[in-house]
Amino acid sequence: MGDLLAPADTFEVLLGNEAIARGSLEAGLNVAAAYPGTPSTEIGEALSKVAKKLGIYFEWSVNEKVATEVAMGAAWSGLRSLTMMKHVGFNVATDAIFTLAYAGIAGAMVIVSADDPHAHSSQNEQDNRHYSEAIGLPMLEPSNSQEAKDLIKEAFGISDRFKVPILIRTTTRISHQRTPVKLGEITAGPGKGKFAPKEPDRYLQVGAIARKHHSELLRKLKEIQMNVSPRFYKIEGSPDSDFGILTSGVAYSYAKEAVKLANLNAKILKLTMTYPLPEKVIGDFLSSVTTAFVVEELDPYLELRAKAVAKDYAPDVRILGKLTGHMPRVGEYTMRTVLEGLSKATGIASPIDFAKIDERSSKVLSKVPPRPPVLCPACPHRSAGYALRRAAGGAAFIGDIGCYALLFEKPFRVEQVTHAMGSSIGIGNGISLATGEDVVALIGDSTFFHAGIPALINAVHNKRKMTVMIMDNKITAMTGHQPHPGSDFNAMGEKAPAVDIEDVVRSIGVDYVKVVDPYNHAEMEKTIREALKRDGVSVIISRRECALLTVRRLRREGRVGEPYIVDPDKCTYCRVCMNTFACPAFVDTGSIVEIDPTICFGCGACTQVCPYDAIIPQKGSLNWREQGIGV
Ligand code: SF4
Ligand code: SF4
Repeated sequence: MGDLLAPADTFEVLLGNEAIARGSLEAGLNVAAAYPGTPSTEIGEALSKVAKKLGIYFEWSVNEKVATEVAMGAAWSGLRSLTMMKHVGFNVATDAIFTLAYAGIAGAMVIVSADDPHAHSSQNEQDNRHYSEAIGLPMLEPSNSQEAKDLIKEAFGISDRFKVPILIRTTTRISHQRTPVKLGEITAGPGKGKFAPKEPDRYLQVGAIARKHHSELLRKLKEIQMNVSPRFYKIEGSPDSDFGILTSGVAYSYAKEAVKLANLNAKILKLTMTYPLPEKVIGDFLSSVTTAFVVEELDPYLELRAKAVAKDYAPDVRILGKLTGHMPRVGEYTMRTVLEGLSKATGIASPIDFAKIDERSSKVLSKVPPRPPVLCPACPHRSAGYALRRAAGGAAFIGDIGCYALLFEKPFRVEQVTHAMGSSIGIGNGISLATGEDVVALIGDSTFFHAGIPALINAVHNKRKMTVMIMDNKITAMTGHQPHPGSDFNAMGEKAPAVDIEDVVRSIGVDYVKVVDPYNHAEMEKTIREALKRDGVSVIISRRECALLTVRRLRREGRVGEPYIVDPDKCTYCRVCMNTFACPAFVDTGSIVEIDPTICFGCGACTQVCPYDAIIPQKGSLNWREQGIGV
């Protein structure tokens, strides 16, 4: 991690997300709130580490909507606030953001949406640029870490001047690139706000008031389009070329490199404020070329708008991009994608022989064993999945967003659905209603707090028959161990009241609530069978802390035991352990199964799986369950 508090006028190598955090500190941040989600998480991680020292406030909120509302409340009280989320998290927040654009703000507020082209760690590739126009949210798109930092400062300035929230839209390659950034002065600090609306109806959005504020927003957007947007562009390359490239964000870097490599006579218009767009800038650019090639990831957002502008400014210009089949709409771009598109558009040969590279890499790849994502050694979800497979084999398994989504893999196959945060219980409601058959909804602890509770209320009130398993590993594990409302500490490392999941579930009216250590396979199987027999909603809380946290703590305490071993005299090579439990530490030697001591954490959970008691502790090995470790 880069030093977020390094002095001004020095260079620091920063992740794009750290640069955003630093930029917000330079812009005078007072309050930030977020829900973790890749690729946005490191912004909050970075702020959480310096918040106390600077006297600013940072929280991991229960979900993105609440995070937005926390930031809104602070901005309505005159402070400078920030909220950030992954692209699908933005969907959760939009109920608040659409109306926020009408309401405006008293201080200044910036919203970061980190999109994930290629769906590297997401369930879709949605392009959140569309939201900016739908909501009326001015949008800036950085193309590297330096710009990410600088644009956050610009965004706060524009927000303060026009009293509207500003959207910074990044993509994975901006969020996760690490490049040198020249730093400015930190001005962030504690801020005491005052909620004193200048007009009595400022924050009352209803009927005629909402219409009045809608008109006001449109006026502000027009002014930003006329006076601010034209500041945020640059034109590079050969000024006299009649071949133009229109681009923004990280795609600009690929386009620039591709033009250089292909030695192409072209000029590039890089747009940085991509809503509202500087129409005259685009129109003049299109008028100066015969062909415009649009380079942008995901949807043809710029391409469609360039076509609309061309109608008035340059009706004869050829606009090439996704709609003409020159560039793909699916997946992430690379410099290769752009070079191949340029070859199609101009007929020039690519300077790189990609077919040869493909041939060579496929030869290498054919020798590399496939490495699908797997649950960690000692992961409590593995034990829960093992028990579910054995005790509820015929049920419909509706999963959710979290590490346990990996239970869709063999040998478990107890996750048939992964959809949206909190959806497992809601979808389970529908499947139970439609089929009357056994339904098991799996949901993580953080996801339960985020969006699972209303669906559980729905299930109870509507008399559904279903079993909910809350996979409580006591942390938001998948995004890097952020606290959630069930944790007894907060994002700034202070003690905080923990909200008890069991109490929440009981208060909703669920009679059957059992807390089980998933490492106790027999108890877990018995509980699952019992729960499935119940009428109404039954809830099993599978509680054991994330194995990575346990291992770290044991290491700190100097208590790590020896890895487990397989007794070669007892192992019959039945492969039951491999075929039903699949800990990544298991090694199939072809004659027996062994345990790789460099991978095994020594939890002892697998000892219950072997029918021949061949998996045994070494002297000094800890059995986590018997010693009460991690529960
Ligand atoms: S289940 Fe036991 S006996 Fe069978 S292969 Fe694994 S360690 Fe050997
Ligand atoms: S003890 Fe068994 S389950 Fe635990 S990490 Fe080692 S091999 Fe995996």
